[in-house]
Amino acid sequence: MISVDEALQHVSRCSQPIPSASIPIVAALGLRLAEAVVSSVDSPPFDKSMLDGFAVEASDRSPTRRVIEQVVAGEVPHHAVEPGNTIQVMTGAPLPEGADAVVKVEDVKHLDEVTLEMPSAGVASGTGILRRGAAFHRGQQLLAAEHRLTPVDIGLLAEIGQAKVCVAPRPRVAVLATGNELVEIGQPVGAGQIGNSNGPMLMALLESVHASSIDLGIGRDDPGELKRLISAGLEADMLIVTGGVSAGVLDLVPGVLQELGVEQIFHKIRMKPGKPLWFGQRERTLVFGLPGNPVSTLVSFEIFVKPALRALGGEDFSSPPPLRGELTGSVTHRGKRPTYHPCWIDFGRIDFEKCQQGLPSVELMRWSGSADLAALTRANALAVLPEGDYELAAGAEVNVVALHSGDFLLK
Ligand code: AMP
Ligand code: MG
Repeated sequence: MISVDEALQHVSRCSQPIPSASIPIVAALGLRLAEAVVSSVDSPPFDKSMLDGFAVEASDRSPTRRVIEQVVAGEVPHHAVEPGNTIQVMTGAPLPEGADAVVKVEDVKHLDEVTLEMPSAGVASGTGILRRGAAFHRGQQLLAAEHRLTPVDIGLLAEIGQAKVCVAPRPRVAVLATGNELVEIGQPVGAGQIGNSNGPMLMALLESVHASSIDLGIGRDDPGELKRLISAGLEADMLIVTGGVSAGVLDLVPGVLQELGVEQIFHKIRMKPGKPLWFGQRERTLVFGLPGNPVSTLVSFEIFVKPALRALGGEDFSSPPPLRGELTGSVTHRGKRPTYHPCWIDFGRIDFEKCQQGLPSVELMRWSGSADLAALTRANALAVLPEGDYELAAGAEVNVVALHSGDFLLK
């Protein structure tokens, strides 16, 4: 059995960035640019009117003007503006030749059908117009490589006519829950059966980190069925199988994985929960066999799968450093494996009398072990209780791993 740190080193070594790909901009929200975006156009692409009004030459002080044409957005003017005349333009229409300002429609007086009285104060050159390239110009870098795309960036890419963008793609992750006892959501739960918590939980966890998931549903503990489903899952960048990796007579997953050419990197880790975790690789596909109990699945996902996904997306493998907190009560620990105990870390309750340390309080949840998912709904973190037989008094410092710190693809 290897330690958590040794296991992390193996997973890190195997987690190589997925090659960048060119994808439609509408699918690229939150992804990191593989290369800089350089504009192929000027913005705006032509001198344009920013108002509904009348295009004029500012230096022409004629008190009245004759309207010789009307141009709406999407059209082009056919005449030039000359002293004594004007062209009516709508917002977004190209500025006619000879004009250098637009007087807004509210500021003119219509003397008859085609004659206007201009404001007596005149108009300054440049009023109501935006010159070609005023926002940015062709050849200008708009977004740097590594930049994570926001909704505004998607709009900008659309503005410059770029339909596709080269990004570090979202990892595709196939999820298979295994176990004869499992029942799909909404189906009646018979004697000896339980609902499939892991499948939907993993889909939600993957969504929370903006990975793309493929739901393979439930696989029975049958070698043929497992082989068929796992083969399909091995087409993804990562396959997560839950259940069937321990020492029971129907724990068939490691055997099937190996039969399908997945190289086992390690099996079993010195940690609690999560001990039976299986990890392997076939070509570029990473395979996690997570123990079936839902808390084991969650803890394994947080500690091992998340950093791997980060690395597949081209980021550093490393997880954020653990937080430090102070236990609100005493705890007795027994056993040769570190325990990841559900807890509540309360940053709002830093004890200011001890403000030199300023550590948040850590309350361990009442928890009945790896099948007790409900305790996790009251927790926001995992307190890491080191291996060994000991007691920690209230106030003792512990390391804490925050849970549900999703959104990393959108950071
Ligand atoms: P296994 O890892 O297959 O030995 O399963 C360990 C325990 O986790 C058993 O009590 C299973 O019934 C339970 N379990 C396995 N898969 C799931 C799942 N998808 N959802 C909820 N519990 C599960
Ligand atoms: Mg099982």
